[in-house]
Amino acid sequence: MAQKYEIVIVGAGPAGLSAGMYVARQRVSCLVISKDLGGQMNLIPKLENYPGTIMSSGPLLARTLENQYLSFGGDLVYDTVERVEEGDGELLVKTARSGYSAKALVVAAGKVPNSLGLDNESVYQNKGVHYCTKCDAPFYQGRTTASVGVGAYLLESGILLSRMASRVYVIFKGGRLGGDPDLIKSLQGKENVELVPNSSIKTISGNGTLQQITISDRAGEETTIHVDGLFIEMGSKINLGFVKHLVELNPKGEIKISNGGRTSHPAIFAAGDATDIPYKQIVAACGDGAAAGLSAFNYVEKLKGRPGVRADWKKQIGDTVFHY
Ligand SMILES: Cc1cc2nc3c(=O)[nH]c(=O)nc-3n(C[C@H](O)[C@H](O)[C@H](O)COP(=O)(O)OP(=O)(O)OC[C@H]3O[C@@H](n4cnc5c(N)ncnc54)[C@H](O)[C@@H]3O)c2cc1C
Repeated sequence: MAQKYEIVIVGAGPAGLSAGMYVARQRVSCLVISKDLGGQMNLIPKLENYPGTIMSSGPLLARTLENQYLSFGGDLVYDTVERVEEGDGELLVKTARSGYSAKALVVAAGKVPNSLGLDNESVYQNKGVHYCTKCDAPFYQGRTTASVGVGAYLLESGILLSRMASRVYVIFKGGRLGGDPDLIKSLQGKENVELVPNSSIKTISGNGTLQQITISDRAGEETTIHVDGLFIEMGSKINLGFVKHLVELNPKGEIKISNGGRTSHPAIFAAGDATDIPYKQIVAACGDGAAAGLSAFNYVEKLKGRPGVRADWKKQIGDTVFHY
């Protein structure tokens, strides 16, 4: 028989653990189910921009958030959510190893950056190879970099790097850059940017850290250049197959949310990178996770005829606020 919880949260990244903290502190039964601890935070050895911490790391922040969540009495299991179905006044959460039921669900399943598919790419991850230009470009002040990728991601990457690096090679497969014409013009006008069209990266090499990349053009001619940093901006995978039949997604496959992490399903809330928020960063995931957790709490409290906590976007009637 499915184990019963009032609120189940999918994902133990910053969004899911923050949601869990806000739910568990209200002494509501809460379970976080996650494939791993930390999600994308595991890809951040040096974390400079999480407010209140100086020179932390992603894995350290993940462990701290986990301990903080558990200290409020929430449960946590490491498992994969395979399917969520509607039951009789509850949601049924099927995992690879078990099953749970919940009155409300918070989806904080994040995303995973796409790799370029080079043989030794993972060897140089965070040793010259990066997957988030807005996060890691500041580490390359005055250094030589290359950016490879698609569409708007590549344009943003090239422009951000041009503000930091001494030299930026922008490498793309087609004959022309795609995306916003103003951004293309801006990139083309940068003195320290060299556009490398009709090209792809064949190999990367170095001695502990990345030193060279070999680029092949359409004719198969290869050129090896020195770079300190390679930024791969190939978009991300969002895997919401377990819940996409219940909530509305945008064309990018992200969950559409409104205030407080509300989705198109009244009992399902969402936060973090799996949603259509802009500026996907840890601090945003934590803030939105807290809001989604409180909205889920308000939803289950309302089912019991209780007012929950105050949400400012709803009108207060007399002394009572009914909202979620
Ligand atoms: C290389 C890189 C560097 C970055 N650097 C920074 C930085 O310096 N500063 C910053 O603020 N942000 C940075 N970010 C962005 C930041 O990591 C994300 O915005 C943040 O982690 C999003 O949090 P999240 O909780 O929404 O999702 P995630 O961190 O992606 O966590 C999602 C969790 O859900 C779990 N999950 C997914 N599907 C299932 C399922 N079906 N069943 C069970 N569990 C599931 C995953 O295992 C994971 O634990 C970086 C991102 C990358 C890729």
